[in-house]
Amino acid sequence: MSSPAASAPPLKTVAHKFGGTSVADATRYRHVADLLLARDEDEQVTVVSAMKGVTDALIDLAGRVAGNLADWRERWHELRARHRGAAVALLGEDSGATVEWLDGQFDTLAEVLQALSVIGELPREVLERVQGLGEVYSARLLGDHLRSRGQDCAVLDAREVLVVDRGELGVDVDWETSAQRLAQWRASHPARRVVVTGFVARDRANRITTLGRNGSDYSGAIFAALFNAAELHIWTDVDGVLSADPRVVPEAVQLESLSYDEACELAYFGAKVVHPQTMSPAIERGLPIIIRNTFQPEHPGTRITARKDAAGPVKGLTLSPDLAVVNLEGTGLIGVPGTAERVFSALRAERVSVVMISQGSSEHSICCVVKAVDAARARTALLTAFAHELAIGQIQRVQLTDGVSVLAAVGDGMAGLPGVAARLFESLGRARVNILAIAQGSSERNISVAIASSDATKALRAAHAGFWLSPQTFAVGVIGPGHVGGALLDQLRAAQPQLLGKANVDLRLRAIASSHRMLLAERSIEDDWRGVFAQAREPLDLDRFTEHLLASHLPHTVIVDCSASPAVADRYAGWLAAGIHVVTPNKQAGSGSLQRFEAIAEAAAASGARFRYEATVGAGLPVITTLRDLVDTGDAVTSIEGIFSGTLAWLFNRFDGSVSFSELVRQARAMGYTEPDPRDDLSGTDVGRKLVILAREAGRALSLEDVRIESLVPQALRQASVEDFMARLDEVDADFAQRLVAAKAAGKVLRYVARLDQDGASVGLVELPADHAFANLRQTDNVVQFTTRRYCDNPLIVQGPGAGPEVTAAGVFADVLRVAAGQGARL
Ligand code: ASP
Ligand code: MG
Repeated sequence: MSSPAASAPPLKTVAHKFGGTSVADATRYRHVADLLLARDEDEQVTVVSAMKGVTDALIDLAGRVAGNLADWRERWHELRARHRGAAVALLGEDSGATVEWLDGQFDTLAEVLQALSVIGELPREVLERVQGLGEVYSARLLGDHLRSRGQDCAVLDAREVLVVDRGELGVDVDWETSAQRLAQWRASHPARRVVVTGFVARDRANRITTLGRNGSDYSGAIFAALFNAAELHIWTDVDGVLSADPRVVPEAVQLESLSYDEACELAYFGAKVVHPQTMSPAIERGLPIIIRNTFQPEHPGTRITARKDAAGPVKGLTLSPDLAVVNLEGTGLIGVPGTAERVFSALRAERVSVVMISQGSSEHSICCVVKAVDAARARTALLTAFAHELAIGQIQRVQLTDGVSVLAAVGDGMAGLPGVAARLFESLGRARVNILAIAQGSSERNISVAIASSDATKALRAAHAGFWLSPQTFAVGVIGPGHVGGALLDQLRAAQPQLLGKANVDLRLRAIASSHRMLLAERSIEDDWRGVFAQAREPLDLDRFTEHLLASHLPHTVIVDCSASPAVADRYAGWLAAGIHVVTPNKQAGSGSLQRFEAIAEAAAASGARFRYEATVGAGLPVITTLRDLVDTGDAVTSIEGIFSGTLAWLFNRFDGSVSFSELVRQARAMGYTEPDPRDDLSGTDVGRKLVILAREAGRALSLEDVRIESLVPQALRQASVEDFMARLDEVDADFAQRLVAAKAAGKVLRYVARLDQDGASVGLVELPADHAFANLRQTDNVVQFTTRRYCDNPLIVQGPGAGPEVTAAGVFADVLRVAAGQGARL
């Protein structure tokens, strides 16, 4: 319980409005009543809509009658049954009078309809009268229910007091007359609770009318004003106004507060807020509007008031679909006054409403965004209006672009704050969304951009993420869930909560592929990826895999290739060109054909997508990153030397003459330090590939053929089976023993070293002084030594464990995070 000092005094009058969904059936009415009775208010005004679907049903009924459709009576019966049913369910034994009243109402309706069927048409007046009846029934149901629960309650039929004018721009309230009539009504109905019909009113000629479809919100605001309420609560089925449509942006956040201006801007652009016209009576009186959830009455909802708060520059983002851009372009427009006026009057004559306008200061073109349904008419109107200028070439063209949506970012906080537009455009640019037109009013409360509708979802998500309304979201696809890939997937999952919380990065694993199968997840693969993937039956199809990742419309996509497949590497350029980032420990691309490597680099440069492959050399060790930093900061690399094979490092660290070389190879194989076929390590090709990768990073157009590689596998053993090879391995012992003796005699050691310098690239066994950095490595450590213009006397050395699934996966993961940081994640 709150302390007496903290609890606010009960509000004098509070107005509530419940829509059709909130009063869909008896259960819902009861829930509404519970909710109202739980509130401590001196005077309570409740405006209700018709039961869900009833307005549509009434309009349909009138249409059927006028159209001479014989089945109208069945519909009439259905509608009456639905209301009678609700009355009985709500009132039980007390329902007699209400049902009788309903029957009377429906009899009158039938008489009206009967008359209609004679005329065979549907006069507007009759339609107005019929379509508003749902509210009349609904208010009575709620009122009678409250009374049956012992409440002091009156039902107000708004047609008795509310007087309005229907003009071209909507409905205007005659406040004076309405207030007078309300005062009269109130004199004879002093109840503490009043239930009011939404939607309906009378015009000045005393004819029954309505406030337009979905007009009950407006009724809510009008009666809040007429009753002089302190607040208007609009009850819906969501917790309030969200930062974006949650069906498009699942991370959308609920907004605690909005200013009237923000709410209006959001509403204009189709957000599910209250309509600006609805708010006008409240705005004029400074009356707070609270949007809240019928199903979560304890939730505070969203408060819309005159106050502008400083909670971020952008409050909400909205999308308006189904639009088109009409562009009028020509040299004849420059400096000519009145063109805009002619454009707009031509459009007005065709009753085309303009959603957005943009004209560059060169005045070379004017572009308007209009509704798609109006687009063809708009174009024809302009072609006609400017026929003369088109004929003589002063105007070159009137262009129409279909399939357009407008994305609007709204917030009072944008005014006077630099960088907001930059942030929006940056987010859209990174997500590779092309912008067709831009508009920002000088109120600076709204920036609108026209984009292709096919980009709309992605654009909304990217912009939402860009304003920190939601995390930087990536669709992630992993190929090759083996040792490294598997470790990566485990690491991704373990890091997820921290990445989300601290860095605002959301990596959504949407696809896994092995060499034969793939798993495409509708949402993300969260738990037990191994179990889920084991069930996957879909055959591998990299086209489908790619489409699936892109189809999620997440702002960014990254494919992690943990396979060793050249066929997958052939895909990189295409992926990068499509804006998909590629991260890999696969050496194929970095050390394979130069042509493919250049195509990859070009695609990445053109699209801005990143290609990262740190783990190809020295696993997780920062070898490539270090080299890149050297090159990017303008250093010149004179040589790169290193030991890039953990296997060969271990073998020569151990090879001191006490045990034969072949025996060491057997031991290494038994401990899993070698490939299943140790010749893959001993041939030196893998080391050669790593050297090619580093050479290319250092700016040399090198290929594997350019590297002199000394293979440690004698010619005679190259074609043998693995068993044969292992059995005959001691044939190499004499030769290795001899080389060791020679090295020792000179006070040196043997090491398998890769080297790149002015003279070229080579990989092979060399003698090194016993105090050399490479002579004192531990276990399977890798080492790389960069000698550069800056690091000349003393080279820059990176050293450490350079193999193993865990550290390799960590290197891949770090690349993924670097890509995320490059896209704006706070890492
Ligand atoms: N019942 C009316 C309609 O469906 C008014 C409203 O519910 O706001 O348009
Ligand atoms: Mg590395």
